[in-house]
Amino acid sequence: MDANQFREFGKAVIDYVADYTENIRDRSVLPSIEPGYLRPLLPSEAPLKPESWQEILMDVERVIMPGVTHWQSPNFHAYYPTASSYPSIVGDILSGAIGCVGFSWMAGPACTELEVVMMDWLGKLLHLPEEFLNCSEGPGGGVIQGSASEATFIALLAVKQRMVNEIQDANPEISEDEIKSKLVAYSSDQSNSSVEKAGIIGSVRMRLLESNQDGQLEAKTLREAVKKDREAGLIPCFVLATLGTTGTCAFDDMQELGPVCVEENLWLHIDAAYAGSAFICPEYRYLMKGVEYADSFNFNPHKWMLVNFDCSAMWVKDSRHLHNAFSVDRIYLKHNKVSSLPDYRHWQVPLGRRFRALKLWFVLRSYGVEGIQKHIRHQIALAEHFKNLVELDSRFEACTCSLGLVTFRLKGDDSLTQKLLDILTAKRELYAVPCRYRGKYVIRFAICAKSTQVEDINWAWNMICKEADALVGPKVRKVEIINEKAKFDAINITSNAESVEKSK
Ligand SMILES: *Cc1c(COP(=O)(O)O)cnc(C)c1O
Repeated sequence: MDANQFREFGKAVIDYVADYTENIRDRSVLPSIEPGYLRPLLPSEAPLKPESWQEILMDVERVIMPGVTHWQSPNFHAYYPTASSYPSIVGDILSGAIGCVGFSWMAGPACTELEVVMMDWLGKLLHLPEEFLNCSEGPGGGVIQGSASEATFIALLAVKQRMVNEIQDANPEISEDEIKSKLVAYSSDQSNSSVEKAGIIGSVRMRLLESNQDGQLEAKTLREAVKKDREAGLIPCFVLATLGTTGTCAFDDMQELGPVCVEENLWLHIDAAYAGSAFICPEYRYLMKGVEYADSFNFNPHKWMLVNFDCSAMWVKDSRHLHNAFSVDRIYLKHNKVSSLPDYRHWQVPLGRRFRALKLWFVLRSYGVEGIQKHIRHQIALAEHFKNLVELDSRFEACTCSLGLVTFRLKGDDSLTQKLLDILTAKRELYAVPCRYRGKYVIRFAICAKSTQVEDINWAWNMICKEADALVGPKVRKVEIINEKAKFDAINITSNAESVEKSK
């Protein structure tokens, strides 16, 4: 493909992307296909002769789109959001064009240096403690990882090596293997599945301690578990606290857990994968009180901050622990421009790394801090609106409402709520997933797509009510109440992502 063909193909795809995004409401959020749908649509061998870009692009609608779960649909309320925005998409195109693998400063000076500056911009936006910033005097700094899972894994590996070094400094006779075999890490039963996985692949016992009624890990629980393990001759080393759990968006109390970690010499890693983006708004920063106790902090701009996957922001107070754990040098990797700038290969699992800071830069500049704040606030307002609708209907109970996530259920037996969700999923027009809250089956309703408006929430609620009518019988005057409430909220919710874009 030459440059001219690329110009045509590229422009056609940009038009396709804009049309897809603008008209996404025309597509069912869940696809109507069965597993194995795709293979029969394709030849069994790769083409011998080149094909035209027109033929390739045509097949996107024929082969790919029928099998897409539309995460960017305003009717997608499952999991947590995965961001997509135009400036970010453009950033990824440019990253693809430069096509560098910025594992060291020399291999990608701009790739490294833009990341250093962007992580400082972002760290300052969240009001992280100074020690986390690249621009601080000390050994702290920020890095972009591919995912929150990797950030957790890396923090765990870093403390593993730190423990070996610390213990051997004082007791050189104890072997590395013995120390490593005794390490214990802690988290709660509400932490993300990736935390348990980090324990498995990092070969460190990961205790998933019982959380309280509100889904929080309590200091008392942590303290008792640490004591018990020390008495058994084990070596506690790591605590993962969650700000915004995946199930119900609960917040561990850092001011409670932090002092325990200090007393017990435990590395504190904060996983704020989803909720971290909300800390850009000052009114939500109280949720991260005690962040100064953390040794490492992570959140995903690729979830809620309009940066496309993958972009997971991680900061550490002392990057030397990462170097000690991961630094392997080969002669072909060395370069003589040693400076205070990081060789990011020592901060991550793979050697290679993409130029991910570009899309972050494009997003921060295109929206501005105010644009991102408006987006977050609008989504939280939509979640509150949804919770109000649930509360107006006596057949339902709203269980939790935290940031952009509401959990709710039909009153009565779990099987009713389960059946309701099964029916909704089978219709493929609205997508939500369940979780457990205080032992009960609840539906998680997350505000995900950037384009979600109050009308979409009202539509979803009417859809839910229609199925509830069939399941448990209609509620008297339901429709009138909803309409009045909806009118009220439609007037009140004025700031939204679209108007942010239009106002520019
Ligand atoms: C989504 C989520 C993760 C996993 O994020 P990845 O970037 O996909 O690894 C981890 N922790 C929490 C609390 C999450 O909500």
